[in-house]
This record gives sequence, C-alpha cells and structure tokens, in this order.
Amino acid sequence: MNFPQATTILQSTFGYDAFRAGQEQIVASVLQKRDTLGVMPTGGGKSICYQVPALLFPGTTLVVSPLISLMKDQVDALHTMGVSATFLNSSCTPREYDERIEGIRAGEYKLVYVAPERLEVPSFVRVLQEVEIPLVAVDEAHCISQWGHDFRPSYRSVARILQSLPKRPILLALTATATPQVQEDIVGQLVMFSPEIVVTGFQRENLSLSVVKGQDRQRYIESYVRKNENESGIVYAATRKAVNHLYERLKSKGFKVGRYHAGLSEAERATSQEAFLIDETRVMVATNAFGMGIDKSNVRYVIHAQMPKTLESYYQEAGRAGRDGSPSACILLFSPQDEHIQRFLIEQGVGSEEKKAHDYAQLRAMSHYAHTETCLQATIQQYFGEENPQGCGRCGNCTDQRETVDATKDAQMVLSCLIRMGERFGKQLLAQVLAGSANKKVKEFHFHRLPTYGLMKGRTVKDIATFIDFLASSEFLRIEGGQYPTLRVTEKGKQVLLGEEVVLRKEDMQVQKVVAVDDPLFEVLRSLRKEIASGEGVPPFVVFSDESLRHMAAMLPQSEEDFLAVKGVGQQKNDRYGARFRKAIAEFCEENPERKPEEHVMSAHAAKPAKLSTEEPSYMVSYRQYIEGTTVEEIAQQRGIQSRTIEGHIIKAMGEGHSLDIDSEVPKDVQTQITQVMEEIGDNRLTPIKEELPEEITFFQIRLVKEKRKQTVKK
Ligand code: ADP
Repeated sequence: MNFPQATTILQSTFGYDAFRAGQEQIVASVLQKRDTLGVMPTGGGKSICYQVPALLFPGTTLVVSPLISLMKDQVDALHTMGVSATFLNSSCTPREYDERIEGIRAGEYKLVYVAPERLEVPSFVRVLQEVEIPLVAVDEAHCISQWGHDFRPSYRSVARILQSLPKRPILLALTATATPQVQEDIVGQLVMFSPEIVVTGFQRENLSLSVVKGQDRQRYIESYVRKNENESGIVYAATRKAVNHLYERLKSKGFKVGRYHAGLSEAERATSQEAFLIDETRVMVATNAFGMGIDKSNVRYVIHAQMPKTLESYYQEAGRAGRDGSPSACILLFSPQDEHIQRFLIEQGVGSEEKKAHDYAQLRAMSHYAHTETCLQATIQQYFGEENPQGCGRCGNCTDQRETVDATKDAQMVLSCLIRMGERFGKQLLAQVLAGSANKKVKEFHFHRLPTYGLMKGRTVKDIATFIDFLASSEFLRIEGGQYPTLRVTEKGKQVLLGEEVVLRKEDMQVQKVVAVDDPLFEVLRSLRKEIASGEGVPPFVVFSDESLRHMAAMLPQSEEDFLAVKGVGQQKNDRYGARFRKAIAEFCEENPERKPEEHVMSAHAAKPAKLSTEEPSYMVSYRQYIEGTTVEEIAQQRGIQSRTIEGHIIKAMGEGHSLDIDSEVPKDVQTQITQVMEEIGDNRLTPIKEELPEEITFFQIRLVKEKRKQTVKK
C-alpha cells in the first residue's frame, strides 16, 4: 500500500492488522481519486473501503445505503471507534433531522449515511451543495440495475445529484453481485469516469457450505438449532406460510426464536429484528425479505429450508453467516420437490422466452450446486468465473466421510409399488400405501389390495417420503406435472427393478456444532459484552465481534498493549471497554489458574510489530523472496503461510507486470506442452487444461505459463 496513513488508520481506529484482499486495491484507488467499482462477497469487508478514505479526506463522505437498520448499526459501530458519523432516514424525528442537518452544515461528521430517496429531496440537495463532499460511496450498488436482484428506482437519481454538486465527488460503488451485465449497468447508470474495477476472490475462508438431501427437514432444523442453542442463526424459508409453520414449531419446543416476513406489521418486524440483533432471540426464521443490510456479524449459521431460485441469491443470503471471520456454517436443505416447483413456476410465468431461458439457466446452476459431488465453495467460485482447483477442504463434499449403505431392496419396493399404482399419484399416497396405511384414499383406489401394500410396514410415512425424495434427487424416479405433481420411474429406476443397478445411499448428515468447543471464558466475555451493549443501547456485535472475543479468550491480554493487539481493538475501543474486559479475564484466570494463553496466537502477536513496520504488501514480499531464489515451500515455511497462498502472491505480482523467469519452475518442454493445450482449448479455465496434461504438471506451473503468455501479449 502506497498510502501508509491508510494502514495506520486501519490499525489505530479499526484495530485490524492489515487490509483484506481487494480492500487494499479499492482504498488505494479511491485515495488516488479514481472512481472505483468494488465487487466483494457479502462479509468481505466493503465498509472499510469507504470508511478509511473518509477519515483521510477533508470534508464529509456521503454513503448511500438502502436499509435503515444497517445505517444505524454502522453509525453506532463508528461511534464506538470514536468516529463522528450520522444517518438520515425516515426513522429520524423532525428534531433529530434538523439537528443533524445543522451538524452536516457545520462539517461535524466524517460520514453521513442516507437512503437513496433522500437524494430526491431538494432541500437536502441544497445542503449538499453547501458542504465539502470528497467521496460518495454507493453501497449495494446493484440496486441501481434492473438486472440485479433488488432494483430500487431511486438509486437512479444518484448520478443526477452528483452532477449538480459544485465539485463532483469521487464515486465508489460497492456490491456483492458479480455478473458482468450488472457491473456494466452500475458503471453506466452512475456515470462513473473510467472506473477502476476491483473484483476480489469469492471464497470465504471461514464458511463451511453443505447440502443436506433426503433427510427430514424439520427434524434436521430442530436438532441443528438445539445443538447450537447459544449461537445466532438464520433459517430461510420460501414462503410466509412456511416461515410461520417453522416458527411456531420451534417456539413450541422452547427455543428463543423470532420471525420476519412481509406479511407482518412493520412494528412486528422491527421488534423481531431488534431482538435478533441484540441476541435476545437466537434464531430468526424468515423469508428472503429479511437480511439485506443486516450487519449482524455474529451469525454463526444460515440454513435454507428451501432452495432459492439462483445461486447468486443463495450465496448472498448464506454469506450473512460469519461476517466477523469466525467459523460459520451455511446449509442448504434440498428437496427435489422444490426444484420441481420452481421449474413449474418458470414454465407458467408470463415473461418473454428470453427471460424464461435466463431463469432456467439460473435454476440449472442452483440445482447443479445442490447435486454436485465436488467442492461446493469451488462450484460457487466457478459460477462467478473464478477457479479453485484444489477445493476448500471445509465444505460438506470435501469432508464427506459418511458410509454408504446398499438401499437397492428398499428402492425396488418403492419403484414397483409406484408402477403398480399406475404412476399417477404423488409422494404422499405412495408412502401411505407402502406403510400400509388404512387411509380413505388408499381404500378408494383399492391400493390395499396391491401386493406391495404395507411392504414397508413399521416405517413411518414421513420416513418413507424422505426416502422417496432421495430416490428423486438421485434420479431413480422423476417428478412430473404442475400443481399436483406425480411420480414416474426413470430409465435408471427401471434398471434397479431389473436388478442391473444398485442404489447406494449415504448415511444421514450428522448435525454439527458450529463452534467446536465450549469455552467458559468466551461465555463470560459474551455476557459482559451483552451487559455493556444493553447499557449503551447498541447490538452486542457493535461492541466487539465474536472474533475479537475469541481472540481475547486465546490471548488473555493483561496489559493495555496486549489488549490493543486483539483483532478489532483500536485505541478508542481499548479506552472505552479495555479495562472491564481485562478485569474479567484476570478474574477468570485467577479462578482457573490452569488457563494459559494459546501459544500460536501469542507468537502471531509477537510478530505483529515486524509486520507493521513494513509497507511492502505481503504478496510483494513473497515475490521478492522468490526471485531471489527461495523456493515456494521455503517461503511458506518462513512466513507461516500456506504454499498455495505464496503461489497466488507470485502470480499476482506477475499479473501486475513484475517480471519473472519461469524456466526454473517450468522446464521448457513442459511450457511447450502447456501452451499447446492452451492454444487448443483456451486458457480461461485451469481444470480442463490440467486434465489434458500429464498428472505431474502442477496448477502452479500452468498458472505461471498463463501469466507469462499474458505478459508476452501485452508487450
Ligand atoms: P460486507 O459489507 O462486505 O458484507 P462488512 O463491511 O460488514 O462486509 O465487513 C464484514 C466483517 O469483516 C466486519 O465484521 C468487519 O469488522 C470485518 N473486517 C473488515 N475488514 C477487515 C480487516 N481488514 N481485517 C479484519 N476484519 C475485517
């Protein structure tokens, strides 16, 4: 980073050691006074990208943001860091509004958050014309595009207002939506001047993604919530009815649960959201109306009870887990019926053929995610045009060690019963016949006389229905028809009946705890945080993130200096809360003398000053060592960073035009081989290239050749 002041602010005010990938480039670009579009996944850390420049520029930075709750939380969080900021939206009383306007006129605030609608109020625009505005940050900028998923027409006025200011501010647009169409639209609609576009990696290192199939959803959700009772989580359901049902059920089991959907009154929604933010309720059952602009950083899990329409909205919603960087889980409960319904809705929809084709393609990508057996994180990255050939090593697919059992016999019973029933009915009746139910409809159709009637006696209808779902998602049978879907045996299913195909089923996914160990000190710190937060009328995560608390619990800081080294602790937070947290930690250690600081965090802490004193970016350090002759493995060891990351550093440096002689890493004949394949099949995607080459050729070698080729082309 060429702007050492930015790093200093990041450390002293925000308490973070270093900028994350992308933040650095975005901040640098803004500080160079360039219009910038930043594309980062949810939780990637977009706010820092405008907050740090705002503190460095003279005048007031304007932040355009779509949701009220987000503004309030961000402003509260900035206050705890000693930054003067305010917001204007419909929740302000006339008196507050006037006071804040006066404050803006007097230049009291470094940051002012407003909803886009505010920019359409002429009196407000006049105020803006009077004050110095160096930067306008447009958060959730995809709202400006009708191709995005949350089109807000009032975003369109932003460009016009900016033109009317005496000096046009720098424009920073931020979004998590990465499709090129939306990006183009943002740049065009905001009239950005040859913007720097920074798209960061879409991998979220602290999320473990999984897909749960062929299991009873309600039971799964219940046991998940029970196992993670102390953690905050969101359960998304597709309809209001489904939300109400799940909510009632969890409530009746005694869980601290809230709900949110557009059918509730505004007051109900606000209360419910507030209770969730302040950790009063732990689980929020909601439709996708909930969450955009919710900045709660300690959401430890997001469960989707039904599959969303697109992978993009899935990742956006799931990405609300783990914003604070602590390990968190994103679980998709898949049922083939949901996929079927969505296909049906597209079919019945009124849109143009082009729109339908677009919707189908999106649904296919979503279904592919639900069915793939390869890395889930990599599947999402690929969707966003990014390669991750090694996989994440954390998701349900990367870590799957479940045993498979032979379910051929059960499958034959189901399929033959289905055929005997004439393939004209749905899952429920089929399950009832197999269970031997004496239901009226069963009798009406004389199914109690079928030889397959009661073949699965002893199992519940629900169990059998879940097994039928499994057969559908494994394509042994197919769901057909619209409003009243029926089942049909597929070709693959017929092979099972003929005894020519076996059906292997994995054991049920076990419900996991997101936070592996219960730490009593963490609980002490968590309740202290809650106490302070209620006193100040802010959500607990605004005081400290879970990540900060965990870091404290590992480091056991006793001095002010140690406390300042905790992640997310800047000077102001130290002054404000440090003493109380240190006291709580000291008391705990006195009562638990066996508790010692964890060594790896202490050594990371000891290494911190060295890191602070150098302004050379991390990737350039690796690059320099590499060209001086140190191998990737040696650098990785010395720097305590994974080899893969070091490789990425070297590639990044090359991408920025730094030269490198690749011959020692990639022998000439291997270079020729790789180049040939690239010429044949293109060099966009690495995996197909790798598959064409001898096994011993590594991804790193392929990437080196790819970069080299790019450099040659540029020359
Ligand atoms: P987004 O708006 O992209 O969803 P946020 O700006 O809310 O993300 O940031 C997500 C979380 O990451 C926040 O809890 C924030 O404090 C944390 N964070 C941001 N930047 C850094 C950084 N450089 N180092 C550590 N944590 C960071």
